[in-house]
Amino acid sequence: MCEHHTPVHPTRTGPPTSRIGRRSLLRTAGVAVAGLAGAGGLGRAAAAVQETSQNGWPAASDLPRNRDFAVDGVLFPSGVAHGAPDVILGYVARQFAATVEPLVDPGCWGFSYRPVTGGTSLSNHASGTAIDINAPQHPYGASGTFTAAQVSAIRAILSHCDGVVRWGGDYSSTKDEMHFELNRPPGAEVDALVQKLGGTPQPPARPTISEGDTGQAVRDAQTLLNQKGGYGLVVDGVFGPATTAAVRDIQARNGLTVDGVVGPRTWAVLDA
Ligand SMILES: [Zn+2]
Repeated sequence: MCEHHTPVHPTRTGPPTSRIGRRSLLRTAGVAVAGLAGAGGLGRAAAAVQETSQNGWPAASDLPRNRDFAVDGVLFPSGVAHGAPDVILGYVARQFAATVEPLVDPGCWGFSYRPVTGGTSLSNHASGTAIDINAPQHPYGASGTFTAAQVSAIRAILSHCDGVVRWGGDYSSTKDEMHFELNRPPGAEVDALVQKLGGTPQPPARPTISEGDTGQAVRDAQTLLNQKGGYGLVVDGVFGPATTAAVRDIQARNGLTVDGVVGPRTWAVLDA
């Protein structure tokens, strides 16, 4: 298993780190979203305990994501988060393949819902904002698995990413040379890099769905409804009466036509 973060990274002390730490601890202490949601203001309470990974990105066991994330035909199983992480990690993986070494298959990994190795906070893999490249050649804990020329090529990739991407080979304690992750929370620095890379963090294309529909789009909607509104829906990919009721509720709260149909405007609320 990859990845190890020092408890408090030397360059990331202060409020953001401790805020993230507290949120993660809330989770590991077993405080369920549903348990807090009853405290009043269902939607607000649920939003307040949105899980985040170590880097401040939303994490979830059923995170909506690009499961087709692949470079040179090598699939990163489970993919990465839609939007900026997809654009940025796609750049990193393509550049790695072009300038460091070819990708091996199997050997590249994406999303994984789990704590940091040896720690309690959620791994950045749990928010779909980290990838592992050529794991067999660069095992967790090993250092010096790349030649000097390859390290220079990696440095060039990181430099182009303006500090938004961190390499596990730069961890201060246990090295993790297979591992690359977003090192900034959602915000201006990430947006600026996406713009620089020429990508637009588009939300995924969403089909219009309503009661009776089944499949991944329904699963995504149920996940997002739970995250945004704390509805406690079973994420089973089956659009039934409970899902319809949740959709109607969130539509009413957001001033939309209350029809129980998840179309472009309702998706926009869910994806916001
Ligand atoms: Zn990793």
